[in-house]
Amino acid sequence: MTDNFVTLAEIEEARRAIAGRIVRTPTIVSPSLSELAGVPVYLKLEHRQTTGSFKLRGASNALSHLSDDEKRRGVTAASTGNHGRALAHAARLEGVHTIICMSRLVPGNKVDEIRRLGAEIRIIGNSQDDAQEEVDRLVSEDGLVMVPPFDDPAVIAGQGTMGLEIIEDVPDVDTVLVPVSGGGLAAGVAAAIKGLRPQAKIIGVSMSAGAAMRASLDAGHPVLVEESESLADSLGGGIGLDNRHTFAMVRDLLDDILLLSEDEIAAGITHAYAMEREIVEGAAAVGIGAILAGRISAAGPIVTILSGRNIDMNQHRHVVCGNTHPQEA
Ligand SMILES: *Cc1c(COP(=O)(O)O)cnc(C)c1O
Repeated sequence: MTDNFVTLAEIEEARRAIAGRIVRTPTIVSPSLSELAGVPVYLKLEHRQTTGSFKLRGASNALSHLSDDEKRRGVTAASTGNHGRALAHAARLEGVHTIICMSRLVPGNKVDEIRRLGAEIRIIGNSQDDAQEEVDRLVSEDGLVMVPPFDDPAVIAGQGTMGLEIIEDVPDVDTVLVPVSGGGLAAGVAAAIKGLRPQAKIIGVSMSAGAAMRASLDAGHPVLVEESESLADSLGGGIGLDNRHTFAMVRDLLDDILLLSEDEIAAGITHAYAMEREIVEGAAAVGIGAILAGRISAAGPIVTILSGRNIDMNQHRHVVCGNTHPQEA
């Protein structure tokens, strides 16, 4: 372990800091997936979190670390949607002004939600990296404080609180399936779970279309990938060429990262809806998709994290009716 690794103690401290600001979400068994996998499969119902994703954990913990002076200056972030929404919600509770920067690829429903939460919105360029340049300018020229979506110790520790809940609910967990984009969720959950149960395996799951973390691990250092549309839009974006925390943590703590096709992600969304009666977005369905595709062989129990529910409902309807491709929505 090196200093840029978030520790179990920091995650336990984050849990105390954000208690009362987040929902302690349930973990329930899935009879249909257990039958299919041949071992018990549990769903961590984190899509029922306030603001519709786990991002509220990290954003709330990051805000709890700010001084009064930093709160007066306001906060900013680049976001594909869910981090911006979580930060806007958490900052409004504290009376902190928020400016959210995002690329044109972000779905309109997510932009509207953030605006409704009282944040100022800036739409910049075609990629997360373009949006990040505007964030850097707000920090250097206007003095705002950046709350990054993943590569930040307080954010990683906040996301890691979910790992503590998983261990409480399924103490003998063998394998946890975690959606991966920038790796804040995977790094935090892996630090918590491996801290308490070192023999547990953590498998990251992402989409084949532009998986920056997997490409970076393959290259041995953070690399840029071309962004493309995916049903798992919350998994888009790079990991940052100057990544300081999540790349090393994911490299050292995860056992594997699987990549799924758009059809496999669509099958995950459809299964969540038809068999589990849960509405989830593509990013949240990748663990179910991996099980359905026969990509997971584990002794069990398996826990798969349903990370968010912020899907455009027209798109959801198209997917569950069998039209998998976003451009048909
Ligand atoms: C952000 C997000 C992810 C990926 O989290 P990272 O910390 O960026 O890896 C997965 N699912 C949903 C719903 C998200 O909003």
